[in-house]
Amino acid sequence: MRENLKFFLRCATRNHTLFLYDLFQVGTTHHTMCLSSPVSGQSQTPAVGQCNGSCGLDSNGNRSASANAPNGNGVLKHRGKAHTEDDNLGYKEENAVYKENPALDTQQDQKLKDTEQAEEEEEYHPQIRWPDLGAQTFLHVGALYGLYQLFYANFYTFLWVVVTVWVSGIGITAGAHRLWSHKSYTASLPLRILLAFAFSIAGQRDAYTWALDHRIHHKFSETDADPHNAKRGFFFAHVGWLFLTPHPKVVAKRKVIDMSDLEADAVCMFQRKYYIPLFALCSIILPVAVPWYFWNEDLWMSFWINFNMRFTWTLNVAFFVNSVAHMYGNKPYDKNIMSVEAPIVSLLAMGEGWHNYHHVFPWDYKTGEFGNYSLNITTGFIDFCAWLGLAKGRKSVSPDMVIRRAAKCGDGTRFLDDDYAHKDQVWGFGDKDIPREDLQELAKMQN
Ligand SMILES: [Zn+2]
Ligand SMILES: [Zn+2]
Repeated sequence: MRENLKFFLRCATRNHTLFLYDLFQVGTTHHTMCLSSPVSGQSQTPAVGQCNGSCGLDSNGNRSASANAPNGNGVLKHRGKAHTEDDNLGYKEENAVYKENPALDTQQDQKLKDTEQAEEEEEYHPQIRWPDLGAQTFLHVGALYGLYQLFYANFYTFLWVVVTVWVSGIGITAGAHRLWSHKSYTASLPLRILLAFAFSIAGQRDAYTWALDHRIHHKFSETDADPHNAKRGFFFAHVGWLFLTPHPKVVAKRKVIDMSDLEADAVCMFQRKYYIPLFALCSIILPVAVPWYFWNEDLWMSFWINFNMRFTWTLNVAFFVNSVAHMYGNKPYDKNIMSVEAPIVSLLAMGEGWHNYHHVFPWDYKTGEFGNYSLNITTGFIDFCAWLGLAKGRKSVSPDMVIRRAAKCGDGTRFLDDDYAHKDQVWGFGDKDIPREDLQELAKMQN
């Protein structure tokens, strides 16, 4: 008897709650939807039953089927079920109140998402790709041997290393990066051919593949979908990502990023199609054979110096952008992202170390706020090409846009350690840089 009474009270309470909830829902929907679109000739505040139907009530004020549709399994569907004959108490576990509370629904969804994510992460166990690890080991160990050989090499061989490093570097920075990945300017056919040739010397895969991963890196920075996600540590962001199996989300994103512009670029697609012979010719045969042919450098020495050492140097400088420039430095433009301003990386990577700026404004062909060529040789190269008429449409960012963004999201370090330091400071009353609004307010105060 006592148990029966308890059950009755529990059901009665639930039905009462449902009734109030439904009443509130009907009232709310009615007022928000019907009042906003009153039917001509009808009252501005029509009673239930006078609605034109747009709010989902039929002529008797009952909710129509169409009104249930957008809510799926939510409130309204439940209400319909509450009045069926086999549910005379109006309560079933599957219709429980918590399902009707959108906030609780969201919590349920979140739990489900968390579980799915946990399962997904459990499924992803990065595997070593042994051929890639072998290639990296060969390159790096061979580079050390090449460095040793350099002490015994002809001085011209050293100069040749410098030339090939700079030329291939321009292929990466002005070509694969600023042109093909970011479309920050447009290049004429001769310039694109030159850049594709220079990039082939670098040997860092074809420009299409490079740009695809780089676009994903920008679009999904520091998530599982980022090919060299810096959250997975320095070593992974630096080189580990190249010999481990990618996260499934990286593979998925490779299929959805728009690459139609590169697919329409004949030079880019030619380099992609003939990448292997181009790599052999431009990255191995040419750099190694020139010293041997022109100044009789020992071919064995030339190989370790001009292939392994030169190649590995360029590779690691590019890696620094993914590791160092995502970890150690200031964030003047957006403190919420990992990429930083790293002048040392800019020095080595021809201007690619202004990485906090670059992630905030990836379409700026300068990849940095200030046009100082000494720490941004690539910008000088593109400007020179523009002067020659080979490059056009250089995209940039207005000072106002930069200031706004820095004020909104920056870590407050903008201007601190360069020539532009304290540019927005004033020396006192009479400084022409006092903002006009401040002057107007000041004038009022003096009165
Ligand atoms: Zn970039
Ligand atoms: Zn980055």
